[in-house]
Amino acid sequence: MSAVVADNLPDAQGHFGPYGGRYVPETLMHPLQELEAEYFRAQHDPDFQRELAYYLTDFIGRPSPLYFAERLTRELRGAKIYLKREDLNHTGAHKINNAMGQVLLARRMGKTRIIAETGAGQHGVATATVAAMFGLQCVIYMGAVDCERQRLNVYRMQMLGAEVVPVHAGQKTLKEAVNEAMRDWVTNIRHTHYILGTAYGAHPYPVMVRNFQRVIGDEARAQILEKEKRLPDLLIACVGGGSNAIGLFYPFLGDAGVKMIGVEAGGRGIKPEQHAARFHGGSLGVLQGTRSYILQDDHGQIQLTHSVSAGLDYAAVGPEHAWLHDQNRVTYGYATDDQALEAFMKLARLEGVIPALESAHAVAECLVQAPQLAADKIIIVNLSGRGDKDVTQVADRMGLRLPSAVPPPSGPPV
Ligand SMILES: *Cc1c(COP(=O)(O)O)cnc(C)c1O
Repeated sequence: MSAVVADNLPDAQGHFGPYGGRYVPETLMHPLQELEAEYFRAQHDPDFQRELAYYLTDFIGRPSPLYFAERLTRELRGAKIYLKREDLNHTGAHKINNAMGQVLLARRMGKTRIIAETGAGQHGVATATVAAMFGLQCVIYMGAVDCERQRLNVYRMQMLGAEVVPVHAGQKTLKEAVNEAMRDWVTNIRHTHYILGTAYGAHPYPVMVRNFQRVIGDEARAQILEKEKRLPDLLIACVGGGSNAIGLFYPFLGDAGVKMIGVEAGGRGIKPEQHAARFHGGSLGVLQGTRSYILQDDHGQIQLTHSVSAGLDYAAVGPEHAWLHDQNRVTYGYATDDQALEAFMKLARLEGVIPALESAHAVAECLVQAPQLAADKIIIVNLSGRGDKDVTQVADRMGLRLPSAVPPPSGPPV
């Protein structure tokens, strides 16, 4: 069963079973077709692949390590835990794998202006980075609420020369930022490429972003085979739009013995408007170009969402995940804000690694799974990003205060 899942999707119209497709205004049809054609040409062009491989290695710093988390493993007294260290990529998350691929594509198409949406700011930073590197104009749309809670990343984007546009519509988070980016793209299509940040949206974005992120899983597979001489038993990754998860999962989909868990944002618990767990209360619908599981009310209005982590705080999930969910190939669970925060602290103190709050959701699931598995089992957790951007937010929640000043020395003046 799973080999079919791995090899044949999406179909030529971008469908993963009943999900995916291309639900956009007429004015976007042609640009999406042009992008699709150029992407598939590039995918089979050895020069493009060589160029991409060069920047992945020399600029991003790939391959990222597969690190054996020895103290965490000992503490949980169960399966052996490995961390795929996407947090060690340049700019601190997996997002740059995709941003790099797409900016190279934009250059092939002769585009001189780059736009993107961002939630936690990681995709905005990655996009601003590759735009600066190639000397392209760059505009990033970001919800006003996210600008506030991820201020550090706003400054980073500005330092990289990007214009950050706060979006004040609606809930002022990721969904509204995507709307603004799409509006800009329609208006400036001739010279602008829209670098969408996750495995979501109209075809070809979900398949294209997945293929730019599958480097995570391709590397992890080779690394675990080298270290353990066998495949892992379980993969765990957090799921916002779904790009870091599908990037890790995809190369293993044909391996029936490898179980996979995607972890959504359980927020304050599974009650309407208190979470962003699309597989726990979502239903079939269309949002921002694609058909998938969506958090909506009985009238099809998109529901409010909540998560402590901006990067998981979105009402819809990538269409390939919807398909994998229905096939029972991947299990989708969730971690609450509190569980994520506990996992955040645990990883920091046991392993010396401060994870992104998004990644902490995957770690939280690992805290549940590892003790239930025997010591000869192997888990790989995708550490999608580092937590620097989240440090002030977590400190506030924990009520941490700056240590009071050290009293001045009392000896004679020198
Ligand atoms: C954006 C982000 C996510 C969520 O996005 P996916 O497309 O689901 O991977 C997860 N972790 C980090 C660190 C992020 O920046």
